[in-house]
Amino acid sequence: MNVLISAQQIRDRVDELGAEIATDFAGKRLTVVGVLTGCLVFLADLIRRLNHPLQVALIEASSYRGAATTPGELVINDGLLTELAGRDILLLDDILDTGRTISRLVDHLATKGPASVKTCVLLRKLGRQEVAFEPDYVGFPIPDKFVVGYGLDFNDEYRHLPFIAELPDDHAPPG
Ligand code: 5GP
Ligand code: MG
Repeated sequence: MNVLISAQQIRDRVDELGAEIATDFAGKRLTVVGVLTGCLVFLADLIRRLNHPLQVALIEASSYRGAATTPGELVINDGLLTELAGRDILLLDDILDTGRTISRLVDHLATKGPASVKTCVLLRKLGRQEVAFEPDYVGFPIPDKFVVGYGLDFNDEYRHLPFIAELPDDHAPPG
């Protein structure tokens, strides 16, 4: 596979992000809200690098693109959230592509009465953004390629890979 970001590079960057976020949230009531399912690996690694008291919550966002339905229609399931009133939220997603998912989720979380909402994405795809949105923390900018690994999937495969790679042309699981 064409590895774009190695496991070691991810570890180093997650360490940096953890230190930065812990400093920025000092004295705040931090709740890390992960966006299922792509956030899982990043979430598990980042919270263990965050030397700061925190709660973890999850939210699910599924988009139904193309086909006959409205392109980019987003369905949000917030049944896994914890109480967010007065909390300082760090919303965590795997990748910012058009920006539609994360901007909609920020608006949604803002209705729960939090003290603040900040955002962190592991990857930011360059040249694809369709809505104006600036994440507060970015792991790595990446070129406009479809990537898998470290939580990111293609048809629910590849999430377990410890690195970020380009989706192989034959789309076959590595063997
Ligand atoms: P956005 O709403 O920013 O266009 O899309 C964000 C979502 O699209 C991500 O949470 C992810 O599920 C999916 N996505 C966008 N680009 C990629 C990619 O290169 N690889 C994978 N696996 N998912 C992607
Ligand atoms: Mg996703």
